Amino acid sequence: MAEKRDYYEVLGVGRNATPEEIKKAYKKLAKKYHPDLNPDSKTAEEKFKEVSEAYSVLSDDNQRARYDQFGHEGLNGQGMGGFGGFGGFGGQGFDMGDIFSSFFGGGFGGQTRDPSAPQRGGDLRLDLTVTFEEAAKGVEKEVSVTRMEACPDCKGSGAKPGTGRETCSQCNGSGRVRLNQTTPFGQFQTVKTCSACGGSGSVIKEPCPKCSGSGRVRKHHKIKVNVPAGVDNGSRLRMQGEGEGGVNGGSNGDLFIYVTVKPHKFFKREGDNVFLEQQISFAEAALGADIEVPTLDGPVKLTIPEGTQTGTTFRLRGRGFPKLRGYGRGDQHVRVKLFTPQRLSDEQKELLRKFDSTYAEPVEEDKKGLFGKIFK
Ligand SMILES: [Zn+2]
Ligand SMILES: [Zn+2]
Repeated sequence: MAEKRDYYEVLGVGRNATPEEIKKAYKKLAKKYHPDLNPDSKTAEEKFKEVSEAYSVLSDDNQRARYDQFGHEGLNGQGMGGFGGFGGFGGQGFDMGDIFSSFFGGGFGGQTRDPSAPQRGGDLRLDLTVTFEEAAKGVEKEVSVTRMEACPDCKGSGAKPGTGRETCSQCNGSGRVRLNQTTPFGQFQTVKTCSACGGSGSVIKEPCPKCSGSGRVRKHHKIKVNVPAGVDNGSRLRMQGEGEGGVNGGSNGDLFIYVTVKPHKFFKREGDNVFLEQQISFAEAALGADIEVPTLDGPVKLTIPEGTQTGTTFRLRGRGFPKLRGYGRGDQHVRVKLFTPQRLSDEQKELLRKFDSTYAEPVEEDKKGLFGKIFK
């Protein structure tokens, strides 16, 4: 790095110069070396930068004091990159990002990416509701999607078919424009992406009438979705390439379908297993019976053994949901619940009383014993 010239020397003022004198000297020199007045002069550009830097330090009391005491080192020690020494600006509402970009020609995030680079299309999201049975069996559904796609008339170029592009007059095809900016440090030059051509250096002669020059059109599509057997509430299906269209030959985005499964009247689901509560009569529980229970595959025979207690759970293997990943199916669990009759005829009541008087299980014995003790 070349030896830095003394800031006072750069501005051509004495060490005791007043702020007014410094400002006056700076204005004179800035005008002399201004890039607009010296196009294509590398020397003038360098001078202009040097003058601006000198003024930025000497016009600030703190910086000037530091510079007077320690010279360039006093500033470099603070790190020119970090601008730690330029304290106090934050509180005055200056955007440090602006100052950086002013100094370094917009190299700090001010630039946009190459607008002609391939760009992937955005992902789309869609909600889809299926029934409990559809989730179990799998189903094909048709969904409507509205997405941005390359214009069919201009093939995404944005130019009216048969016409081309011409060099941007704003930036003469460079894609960049120089701007002069006034900051607390004085005036600086920044290079920015040309807004007329978006940085591409060329503009469309005549915009495509179909897409107004954007190169993209909004289109509605009906898409068939294969909902696989076994999907659950919250399952996400990805349809590659069915999202927004890419730009400049970039790939399409994806379509993500979020599945909601409607709850079922009787069945409950936990993972791949199905749960069902089934009422049985006292006689069926006591004597045992073959009953029919609903499953995802239709009614299936379930054998209730003699003496079944309420709350007992039976398992029907392989009657649950298909496993989304892997093979096989979950099970169905059937929990039996004894049904207590509520409207009995006199005859039925009499039969039950008779039955009860013949009934002498140990539990009942204990009960009688207990009552016997209480009501003695
Ligand atoms: Zn078009
Ligand atoms: Zn341009």
